[in-house]
Amino acid sequence: NPSLTRENGAIATTCPYCGVGCGILAAARGPESADIKGDPEHPSNFGRLCSKGSSLGETLSLETRLLYPEINGRRVSWDDALTTVANTFQRIIETHGPDAVAFYVSGQLLTEDYYVANKLMKGYIGSGNIDTNSRLCMSSTVAAQKRAFGEDVVPGCYEDLQLADLVVLVGSNAAWCHPILFQRLLAAKRENRRLKIVNIDPRRTATSQSADLHLPIRPGTDAVLFNGLLNYLRQHDSIDFGFLEKHLGLYAEAFETARKTAPSLPAVARICGISEEDLATFYQWFARTEKTVTLWSQGVNQSSSGTDKVNSIINVHLATGRIGKPGMGPFSLTGQPNAMGGREVGGLANQLAAHLDIENPEHRNLVQTFWNAPRIAEKPGLKAVEMFRAIAGGRIKAIWIMATNPAVSLPDSNAVRDALGRCEFVVVSECESGTDLSQYAHVSLPALAWGEKDGTVTNSERRISRQRAFLPPPGEAKPDWWIISRVAQRMGYGDDFNYQSAWEIFVEHARLSGFRNNGERVFDISGLAELDRAGYDALKPIQWPVNQCHPNGVPRLFDGGGFSFPGRRARMVPVLPKAPANLPDSAYPLVLNTGRIRDQWHTMTRTGKSARLTKHLPEPYAELNPHDAARYAVPDGSLVRLESRFGQALVRARVTEDQQRGAVFVPMHWSGPYANKGLINALVNPAVDPVSGEPESKHTPIRIEPYRAA
Ligand code: SF4
Repeated sequence: NPSLTRENGAIATTCPYCGVGCGILAAARGPESADIKGDPEHPSNFGRLCSKGSSLGETLSLETRLLYPEINGRRVSWDDALTTVANTFQRIIETHGPDAVAFYVSGQLLTEDYYVANKLMKGYIGSGNIDTNSRLCMSSTVAAQKRAFGEDVVPGCYEDLQLADLVVLVGSNAAWCHPILFQRLLAAKRENRRLKIVNIDPRRTATSQSADLHLPIRPGTDAVLFNGLLNYLRQHDSIDFGFLEKHLGLYAEAFETARKTAPSLPAVARICGISEEDLATFYQWFARTEKTVTLWSQGVNQSSSGTDKVNSIINVHLATGRIGKPGMGPFSLTGQPNAMGGREVGGLANQLAAHLDIENPEHRNLVQTFWNAPRIAEKPGLKAVEMFRAIAGGRIKAIWIMATNPAVSLPDSNAVRDALGRCEFVVVSECESGTDLSQYAHVSLPALAWGEKDGTVTNSERRISRQRAFLPPPGEAKPDWWIISRVAQRMGYGDDFNYQSAWEIFVEHARLSGFRNNGERVFDISGLAELDRAGYDALKPIQWPVNQCHPNGVPRLFDGGGFSFPGRRARMVPVLPKAPANLPDSAYPLVLNTGRIRDQWHTMTRTGKSARLTKHLPEPYAELNPHDAARYAVPDGSLVRLESRFGQALVRARVTEDQQRGAVFVPMHWSGPYANKGLINALVNPAVDPVSGEPESKHTPIRIEPYRAA
């Protein structure tokens, strides 16, 4: 639509789906529809949009929206709903203490919403019990970056893909899950004949089909492969010892552990299940290509040793000094539109706001002083999976869930539903009515959706972008920050939550990031703290840090050090590879791997409204190898029952050589009317990484059998 321009009144906003964070121009066409176009001025996408982003105008119907507050399914006034939430939380806190309540939030929230939720829980209620669905997504990367750099920082930027000569994608089907970034990579390859793409993934995917080399690794063996690479680099004189001496505190032990656990190329090839020849090709390309970017995503993160796996990747970049310079660096792709913004404001149970540490008394004191808060959480709260276990066990008696659906998306979801059914008080803030979660809500609070709300998000390259409203608020729906702060006021925290706009919250967040920062933390957006309302409204996409030294933001970090450990140093972490928590056996001989498909987002509450998107893959399915299909008598296209130790699901079989023998891939999106056939996440084992708490959604032993109607 060429007439959709800023000059013609289109509003510039940001896509609400993946972490690429594409800019969008939008203009309302009535209350339930809009014209959509990629924003040519946004530096993440330069006007491009993928199938999901370009269909956003078809997902704005109000037919199934939650438009009014409800208590036990009955419409009530906002005042009644907010007072009920505040009074019930207060009563439970007074009777059982602050750790008897919890918030479970989402990477779909805007930074301003996240900030207020975290402030209320950690500074006023005084508990660490706020966690987020980003725990399921990239918390292993957060933990690994903190262990390596001293702070959760992504060093590079998207432009590095265009400047690199080698791009390695690990556990990432970026062609489907981060499509516009992948298109930028393919465009770079057309211009740079030297550029090679390597894809490390057990499955053959749209991404691996565009790669120069696909390593179909045995599930769970990534750390062996990267330890093997570290060892190979040392044996082939490819280590930058000058960089290590100057910028690293600890590194010798990482080399020694790599030598012991991945002693030779043939040994690594055998453990990882790939040919020696292909492995040697990858190692040689990596060793001789200075400009290398390694991207990774959920295939690495969602593991019971995900943090170690990420550290094994970061290690090879630190060892070669390939970090922070144009065209090189380790690069985590975030799944959600605001996974990064949530981390900035401390939206994980083990963090404080502004990248400060909850276990550090000075940091706690600093945040409490800044907020002038009556108390501050003294220890980390419960992480997502533990949080719902604590509900089941009766330790948590009230939970407020915002912008996410744990009844569908958490592993062992039948146990999660059971916990919610037993919870004394469940509050749900959401846009849609009639979701799988709604049935558990004592109080339902209607939240504004994309296109109706205002605020900021931060994408995978640390770029803060504005989401702007271009539709009127429907019914009585309100911004999440408004709902949280009005509850806080009714709990007695009046003035400290007297926000009237997202702008006021953003500048407070920006001020906190600079408050006595003294340059110790990389995360700093104090340069945006003086924005007035008009400046906030006009804010152009910008990459943090933004401060006096860097008023226009910073594309790359750590060129020449500047890490956050004492002495501005980083660390290489010794990585001892571990097997997945649950291995296949004779009862459950196959390995279930869950993931996303190209045209759906999360539990489909929005993308499911677009007929165009639903056409791509219209029903849940399980992909399996022809050998396994023959073995278990499952013809292509037939219905099959999948069963794990935790649950069952009924799906359609797709028989394909894209799957390895012994592996089954199932997309995780379907819920609602499909739930009676079994939710995919009901199958998934709830094993978590002991450091990050991220669940192992990529490795659950299952069995498969043909479906026979009773
Ligand atoms: Fe939206 Fe991601 Fe597609 Fe960009 S790549 S349009 S952010 S879903």
